[in-house]
Amino acid sequence: MSVPAPAALRRSVALADYTTWRVGGPAQWFAEPESSAELQALLQWARAEGLAARVIGAGSNLLVSDAGLEGLTLCNRRLQGSRIEASSGLIEAEAGEPIPSLARRAARAGLSGLEWAVGIPGTVGGAAVMNAGAQGGCTAEVLESVTVIEPGRPEQPFTLSNSELAFAYRHSRLQQEELVVLSARFRLQAGHDPAEVSGRTSANLHSRTSSQPYQQPSCGSVFRNPEPHKAGQLIEGLGLKGLSIGGAQVSPIHANFIVNSGGATASEIDQLIALVQQRVQAAHGIRLHTEVKRLGTT
Ligand SMILES: Cc1cc2nc3c(=O)[nH]c(=O)nc-3n(C[C@H](O)[C@H](O)[C@H](O)COP(=O)(O)OP(=O)(O)OC[C@H]3O[C@@H](n4cnc5c(N)ncnc54)[C@H](O)[C@@H]3O)c2cc1C
Repeated sequence: MSVPAPAALRRSVALADYTTWRVGGPAQWFAEPESSAELQALLQWARAEGLAARVIGAGSNLLVSDAGLEGLTLCNRRLQGSRIEASSGLIEAEAGEPIPSLARRAARAGLSGLEWAVGIPGTVGGAAVMNAGAQGGCTAEVLESVTVIEPGRPEQPFTLSNSELAFAYRHSRLQQEELVVLSARFRLQAGHDPAEVSGRTSANLHSRTSSQPYQQPSCGSVFRNPEPHKAGQLIEGLGLKGLSIGGAQVSPIHANFIVNSGGATASEIDQLIALVQQRVQAAHGIRLHTEVKRLGTT
């Protein structure tokens, strides 16, 4: 069956413009759908063309290869919209809604539970996939359910509840299965003083921006913490802050961040990741695993 090419489709779009590391080659096909219906139509087109399809959010946890990506890449960040019910604590949000602004609005409505999310520059969809978390809180604690589709059957959305998502530290079932998140429901604690919740939210942001390199392109923490250790402390302890390969540098401010100090490539970041892993393994016998998701081969 032939499906007409949606108007939103673009060819050969540099993905460096859609990742917070500012690296990544071209997407063969690319679009930023503005509604779930448009996203579903784009996936139908990809299926009819026999193309692989994937969805990204704000690109804040992605290492996209310099060679770029075949098939269709959909960026969800225009899929915005949310509804907050102050009395019950219910929040319904589209997948592209930025998590920091959702945290701010929830605080202003007197809802507590998302104060930790204000410094995470991702979308609702990305937060559900990654079980994003910070400062003692995480997505799994406040997410009730997600509405998803399979790329091969975009006409049939279905809901997965929290208990069906296999949440663990920076992990969910959504990382293993090809499911696209369209929207999410959160349940927060209602009835708090908006000024107090907003104050805690601002304090959380301040503590992060004063201890992490928010001024340079990065992907946040590169490595998962190998409990009971902290990846950043292991790396800093080996004197690796400032270590560079090309434009990729272990941040002098926070050792679990690799920043793009100017003109870095995905390959340079990948090489630096491998070098840090080797050094930590040699010194401590601990294998650091990446939190960042790779797309394509570097
Ligand atoms: C400065 C900085 C600080 C950070 N601090 C933290 C932190 O404290 N805690 C933390 O957990 N993370 C942190 N991160 C990492 C990142 O922001 C989170 O992992 C975030 O949840 C990723 O969301 P995103 O929308 O950018 O997803 P992306 O990076 O675009 O994608 C991540 C993964 O989710 C998939 N995905 C995204 N949207 C969808 C969707 N709608 N449906 C299906 N799959 C989807 C992608 O395919 C990919 O596999 C930080 C990043 C930066 C740059």
